[in-house]
Amino acid sequence: MATLQNSINGAESSVAIIIPSKPTPLTVTYKDLQAECASFQRKLASIGITNRSPVSIATANSYEFIVSFLATSWQRGIAAPLNSAYKQEEFEFYIEDIKSAIVLVPKGAFVANAPSVKAARKFNAAIAECYWDDIKKEVALDVKDLGQLKGKSKENVLQPQPDDVAMVLHTSGTTSRPKVVPLTHRNLTRTMKNIQATYQLTAQDRTMLVMPLFHVHGLLCALLAPLYSGGSMIVPTKFSASDFWLEFIAHKANWYTAVPTIHQILLRSPTPNPLPKIRFIRSCSSPLSPAVFEKLEETFKAPVLEAYAMTEAAHQMTSNPLPPAKRKPGTVGIGQGVEVKILNDAGDEVPQGSEGEICILGENVTKGYLNNPTANASAFAKNGFFRTGDQGKKDEDGYIIITGRIKELINKGGEKISPIELDNVLTRHPSVSEAVSFAIPDELYGQDIGVAVVLKSGEKLGRDELKAWVNERLAKYKVPKKIYFTDIMPKTATGKIQRRIVAETMQKQEA
Ligand code: ATP
Ligand code: MG
Repeated sequence: MATLQNSINGAESSVAIIIPSKPTPLTVTYKDLQAECASFQRKLASIGITNRSPVSIATANSYEFIVSFLATSWQRGIAAPLNSAYKQEEFEFYIEDIKSAIVLVPKGAFVANAPSVKAARKFNAAIAECYWDDIKKEVALDVKDLGQLKGKSKENVLQPQPDDVAMVLHTSGTTSRPKVVPLTHRNLTRTMKNIQATYQLTAQDRTMLVMPLFHVHGLLCALLAPLYSGGSMIVPTKFSASDFWLEFIAHKANWYTAVPTIHQILLRSPTPNPLPKIRFIRSCSSPLSPAVFEKLEETFKAPVLEAYAMTEAAHQMTSNPLPPAKRKPGTVGIGQGVEVKILNDAGDEVPQGSEGEICILGENVTKGYLNNPTANASAFAKNGFFRTGDQGKKDEDGYIIITGRIKELINKGGEKISPIELDNVLTRHPSVSEAVSFAIPDELYGQDIGVAVVLKSGEKLGRDELKAWVNERLAKYKVPKKIYFTDIMPKTATGKIQRRIVAETMQKQEA
């Protein structure tokens, strides 16, 4: 059956997970992982988590994250991974939007009255600390406040079905309010199979998991696909360039997947000597320049495979294939268990080589956004293909080239930032009259954030002050790098704001 419960395929005695950051590394076999998830599932059932209960997980990459994610889906709950670096306002938005029954936070968060805890309280969600208990040698679920679960009776231990929603993630909401993407067990297991097949993953493979688990990239490609293949993963709390190769070598990893920014950081750090044997390096989530592609292959002596993915597709749609098949820098390869067509606005396929919208069909693709008929009405073409919002074309070999983005999002090293969200926070400042955010080129991140700001008449405001205002309200990666103060906001002839035009005008004025 296509469920997460039936798709963990490692041999009992094989190593599933290595957590290098404990005083001594924590090594978990597949047998232990299965037992731990079953035990955590019983803990969730005992406090009333049941079919369709939304469970927000606000912990960094860790064994606790992995166990609580899997156990939630086994119990037919809906896992909602969140960035643990969010500020209170952001937590409030996500917790309220999906009506979380419980928010799982790291040890100490309750006493510290962390932003996630404050937000959970506001919406009467239960709060539990989730942490590795060294004495009991298990993941503890320490319930601090039962919230709305108070008085709920203990639930039975359940079994997930393929069409149950296993998790929800929000898009970054570049065009509107962030949309909720539900992904079923069937969607997720399809991607796990597709990724296994694309890279021929086996039980002998070991990956360094350096992408956050609250996005599909890390979750599907570096956690779920390896679990499906019976391989092992090394899971540091966060990416560190200085520890990367030490851990890679110590724990015998042989591949990794990351955004181009991380590849670039590794290229700027000392290269290990001797080099470990790397079967392949995967790049995804934002464009990899052919120059970085070449430098990576040359430095690390491994094939580099660029892939293309999105939340609505439960991550991967296309990828360059393993050798001996051809990999083409500047392309994102071919559909991998996913049908890809380039369609025009009417939903008809354009001739090979012509530009259009990249559209996809596959068992991995979400059936539609949650409670959002308006978005769903335009999300699918007449033949059922999902519209990605990305512009592209197929080259002579059918390899996909992404040529642009229909939406105006800011892609900072793979982390997508909604300009609307940022505009709204900026214009709430009492001295600000108008604010427009946009992408500016950045050597390391590919893109960073620029904002054009018009102050109310007579007001004075420093750049640092405005940055601090944002930092109090939004996660740090959303703080603009450049603030351009301007007397008038450039507008089109019809009085509309076009981010691209604002961006060009501001950068021109500066030059
Ligand atoms: P939005 O709300 O604007 O849809 P999002 O949160 O859905 O943003 P994600 O699902 O995280 O964004 O990212 C998907 C997008 O990332 C793709 O639509 C594409 O634009 C971009 N992307 C992914 N892989 C690549 C790649 N290899 N090259 C260029 N762009 C890529
Ligand atoms: Mg998207």
